[in-house]
Amino acid sequence: MEQRRRGDAECRPEPEAGRQARGIPADDRPPVPAFAFDRGPQRVYWELTRACDLACRHCRAEAIPWRDPRELPPAEARGLLTALRGFGDPSPQVVLTGGDPLKRPDFWALLEHGVALGLGMSVAPSGTPTLTPDVVRRLRESGAAAISLSLDGSDPARHDGFRGVPGCFERTLAAGRAAVAAGLALQINTLVTTETVSDLPAVAELVDRLGAGRWSLFFLIQVGRGRALGQLGPALCERILEWLWERSRSSSFAATTTEAPHYRRVALQRARAQGARDGHRRFQGLRRGFGIRDGNGIMFVSHVGEVQPSGFLPLIAGSVRTASPVDIYRDAPLFRRLREPAGFHGRCGRCEFREICGGSRARAYAAAGDPLGEDPLCPHEPHRGGGSALEAPGGAGDSGRPTASS
Ligand code: SF4
Repeated sequence: MEQRRRGDAECRPEPEAGRQARGIPADDRPPVPAFAFDRGPQRVYWELTRACDLACRHCRAEAIPWRDPRELPPAEARGLLTALRGFGDPSPQVVLTGGDPLKRPDFWALLEHGVALGLGMSVAPSGTPTLTPDVVRRLRESGAAAISLSLDGSDPARHDGFRGVPGCFERTLAAGRAAVAAGLALQINTLVTTETVSDLPAVAELVDRLGAGRWSLFFLIQVGRGRALGQLGPALCERILEWLWERSRSSSFAATTTEAPHYRRVALQRARAQGARDGHRRFQGLRRGFGIRDGNGIMFVSHVGEVQPSGFLPLIAGSVRTASPVDIYRDAPLFRRLREPAGFHGRCGRCEFREICGGSRARAYAAAGDPLGEDPLCPHEPHRGGGSALEAPGGAGDSGRPTASS
């Protein structure tokens, strides 16, 4: 399949002057910009280990205190990074996650190997006593590009209650401050459930004060231990996304979502409602995330080397122990189907926003067992007003910061 997009530059509409120079009339424009990442993901999430000293109520990985003996051994782990470099340029950002990636004794060697290969390396550690300010500074010195930390409440009782271990809240704040001081890009992730939703404004204040560059709201997928938590209904989710868009206007951070790609639709609709000028400016940061969703721009490698479209979509497309991750991503039938939103079912398949959004494939699977099904968290009825993705303005951006993560 021909590559249609690898990075942001490729997805921008071609300037009109360039089209005219090539003899392409204005009305011969492709009807919808293509946002398929056919040749390589933008981000690879690699679950180094499932070992973790926390006991989070929503843990996707159902993490345990000890390491699984089936984890990729050091030589295979290094080989995986080398294989990921095989995607070519631009290379994917590799997010070292878990469990707690710091639980692997060869964590630092792997981080430095990835950096030496020219891969962008990010780290998503757990807020345990291991995560000291010195460790955060060492991440920066070792060449990590970014750190993401989870903050699920605005005070110790709320956050530590979710994480299952006292002291996690303060450690997370200390690590965040250390990251900002060291010049390490900081992303804060916050889980959205019926239990946390009323606290979001206070968490937003905290994220602002921390000086994080990005705040990503993660909309619960009921997998792992998250099955016991309450998922928002679509109407409340829509209000939260509208609030997030408005809140981000006065924030120092860029607002993003995980497993709620219809934030792009909401943001686009709000931007247009606020006027073309403002909409144009704000649209540009948003568009960097267009199209990215499970299996399209995102790939997940489990602690035992199994490849999935994301950590929240537990369908295995192959194993890096027996096949190239590049080949799996490009050619596995599951990945290929997930990159073709015209083949999605229900409202997501009919939707005028399907190319830039496409819905959460993980939630569609969790809800009805169909990874191509519609995302039940989105209330949008296609082609009943609310604009068209075709009207999306193009041109150079302003902020340069991505604002939609999946
Ligand atoms: S219907 Fe599906 S594709 Fe359309 S905006 Fe909602 S989640 Fe996205």
